[in-house]
Amino acid sequence: MALTPAPSTTSPSSTSSPSTAAPDPAPAPGPQGAASLPGDRIASVRLSSVYLPLATPVSDAKVLTGVQAPMTEIALLFAEITTKDGHDGIGFSYTKRAGGPGQYAHAREIAPALLGEDPSDIGRLWTKLVWAGASVGRSGLATQAIAALDIALWDLKARRAGLPLAKLLGAHRDSVRCYNTSGGFLHVPIEQVLDNATAALERGIGGIKIKVGQPDTAADLRRLTAVREHLGDAVPLMVDANQQWDRPTARRMGRAMERFGLTWIEEPLDAYDAEGHAALTATLDTPIATGEMLAGVGEHMALIDARACDIIQPDAPRIGGITQFLKLAALADHHGLHLAPHFAMEIHLHLAAAYPLEPWVEHFEWLEPLFEDHLEIRDGRMYLSARPGLGITLSDRARAWTRESEEFRR
Ligand SMILES: [Mg+2]
Repeated sequence: MALTPAPSTTSPSSTSSPSTAAPDPAPAPGPQGAASLPGDRIASVRLSSVYLPLATPVSDAKVLTGVQAPMTEIALLFAEITTKDGHDGIGFSYTKRAGGPGQYAHAREIAPALLGEDPSDIGRLWTKLVWAGASVGRSGLATQAIAALDIALWDLKARRAGLPLAKLLGAHRDSVRCYNTSGGFLHVPIEQVLDNATAALERGIGGIKIKVGQPDTAADLRRLTAVREHLGDAVPLMVDANQQWDRPTARRMGRAMERFGLTWIEEPLDAYDAEGHAALTATLDTPIATGEMLAGVGEHMALIDARACDIIQPDAPRIGGITQFLKLAALADHHGLHLAPHFAMEIHLHLAAAYPLEPWVEHFEWLEPLFEDHLEIRDGRMYLSARPGLGITLSDRARAWTRESEEFRR
């Protein structure tokens, strides 16, 4: 689809009033600040809707309790931004099950607002994109569409600086502890879970998480017992109930699982039950982790205010991108929370590396076919590469899985 042509000036103006467009040199910064200074400008934004097929339908507790159907694919929204000076950046958002077409449609509506803008002004551009769709809110699908663009701008800024994103942000470490999730889903027979755990540890991954939350809690404990006996006591082990317990069940299971020495219990309760999570956090010795399903910084603030967890699990694409993640990370650090971001290790490795307290990053191999580059994992940790930005390049397979794509240009 062709865009409305830009004015044929060499210095696109970001002012909202066409009657005040100024010739070069640009006017001194006014209320809009650096956007009116000379410099690089966003020349194009390409959006792509990509559907990643999963090798096997995937089930967690939400499937076994009848809340959801098995997951067969992941919908990704990629944003690729270029500037007139030849810099570029890539970002992505995603959704599991429904929502991919909605994210893509919203991004298509708002992406043209970036054209002609200074790519360095990421905070201002995030606000501009929110206001472009203010009626659909500041969380959820609307800001998940913004996330792909925001992440691309951060990638661009780090690439232009010649730095890995973590270094641009200010890294505390060059590697992050990592644990595997993908081998421990509930559709996987326990013998295979044990083999998957062995393979993950042999690959250099440092911890193992398994899913729980089945209707039969005794079955959960049997699987957990088998995994702990298989791993021994020294390997960090986590469980994830995917919100499928009520408060009494979570309390009872939490006490029953204390003997396993778990690194954390994840999402024991409904994602929005801050009060219930807070009671568990105060009651159990095992740390409580939650936050992956929340769709904005404001929603996370309810967890922080309630002292609902020991470990917070934000997901940058899900809460509106890196700009929002950094805001939340500062708040979480101020409150002494540990960090274990959810999914999207390609992004979260950098954000975790820049978090003050020693974090964890979640290993899923699912997204690996989308990228040419792969993360180095050894000795229980995932390492930053020397590649600038996020260090990712879309693969030919990602291009082949693209269902829709559109480029906006001025
Ligand atoms: Mg989880």
